[in-house]
Amino acid sequence: MIDTEKIRVGTIWLDGCSGCHMSFLDMDEKIIELAEYMDVVYSPYVDAKEVPENIDLFIVEGAISTDHDLKIINTIRKNSKKILALGDCAITGNVSTLKNLAGTDAALEKGYFDLADLNKGKYPDKIVPKLLEKVIPLNEAVDVDYFVPGCPTPANAIYEVLKGLINGIEVDVSKYTRFGI
Ligand code: SF4
Repeated sequence: MIDTEKIRVGTIWLDGCSGCHMSFLDMDEKIIELAEYMDVVYSPYVDAKEVPENIDLFIVEGAISTDHDLKIINTIRKNSKKILALGDCAITGNVSTLKNLAGTDAALEKGYFDLADLNKGKYPDKIVPKLLEKVIPLNEAVDVDYFVPGCPTPANAIYEVLKGLINGIEVDVSKYTRFGI
């Protein structure tokens, strides 16, 4: 339960396709209603460069694939009272873990040698974060408080969960969503 009147919320997408963030925007006019109770202080939707401290709820899309993902999820855990894993990639790894079948070297070979049109064979390791040996879901890296499945998570499930948290209750969204939809 979140105990402040206007909750401070962060959102981020890590190794995801942004589809779950698109669903967040699909709440449409309900975002205006939620904005009365929430301040979004860090997100692709706002221009903040650093993860702020004292976040009440951090909504995380995507799995953990790089050393940068790992660093930022640990900062988010340290700075947040609650973390919500949004969507199947965050919860199970989902399509993001397909790379695990091939391995990191094969994935880099495919992306930077086989399929590259420009700069073939040049992995930009000063710009691109280092891939982890294995893509993992959020809860293999940090403790996660809430899990809201779906690929993407439907907008009405996101709305019901956020409204519930604002009201201090955890809601069952199984009627709106399940893994894989
Ligand atoms: Fe995209 Fe689906 Fe992963 Fe959400 S769960 S980030 S929609 S692939």
